Amino acid sequence: MISFHQVQKHYGSFHVLKDINLRVNLGEVVVVIGPSGSGKSTLVRCINQLEKITSGDLIVDNVKVNGRGTDLNKLRREIGMVFQHFNLYPHKTVLQNITLAPVKVLGVSETEAKETAMFYLQKVGIAEKAGSYPAQLSGGQQQRVAIARGLAMKPKIMLFDEPTSALDPETIGEVLDIMKTLAKEGMTMVVVTHEMGFAREVADRIVFMDQGRILEEAHPRDFFSQPREERARLFLSRIL
Ligand code: ADP
Ligand code: MG
Repeated sequence: MISFHQVQKHYGSFHVLKDINLRVNLGEVVVVIGPSGSGKSTLVRCINQLEKITSGDLIVDNVKVNGRGTDLNKLRREIGMVFQHFNLYPHKTVLQNITLAPVKVLGVSETEAKETAMFYLQKVGIAEKAGSYPAQLSGGQQQRVAIARGLAMKPKIMLFDEPTSALDPETIGEVLDIMKTLAKEGMTMVVVTHEMGFAREVADRIVFMDQGRILEEAHPRDFFSQPREERARLFLSRIL
């Protein structure tokens, strides 16, 4: 579904992604970990072209997305993204937050969009909040709305960039549980997180980044029990 081939990315003269080679297969869950500033967000944002790569090739669902004439709208319709900060529209209700893009971008009817929105709100366990405004919800609930909003576009890929980092400890679990369910249902997912319990349990593969490089790629069982790279060992010793 996603393939990075010798990808380089610069911010001006700063070389932020260095020779990235990475494949994510259909239905796979890849968890990206690494120190702050190592390029995790940039890597994920390249997938839906929120950031442009400088060179190399990036293929998403069989389309070379760094090519000229890439249909960005089509690409982004196929990819849901959930951020650390939920980015909900504050002056719209939960339901309106979810129906907006399907109506505007996919052109589905209001009625159908509402039905779909309610389906996903039920799935994330907050159907009763449909008429509330984001500020009336807890952080965990807002993040669940953000996930429902992503799912309502029926994406082929879901990207998560530290989706629980801004949450109170007691609401982190409710968001991780939804992500686990999605993973079990076969969603292709790339997840940046510091939640090592989730990574260990859900990831098909761990990608460890440091200073713009993928230093290690391994099955979680191997990565957590015996990381090959000294830098990964140090990172784990600090956060576990
Ligand atoms: P991570 O998500 O692992 O913390 P990022 O991808 O956010 O890392 O950032 C990697 C590096 O790129 C950092 O040094 C950061 O300061 C820098 N960076 C991120 N975004 C930009 C930008 N828009 N312009 C310039 N530098 C950036
Ligand atoms: Mg980041």
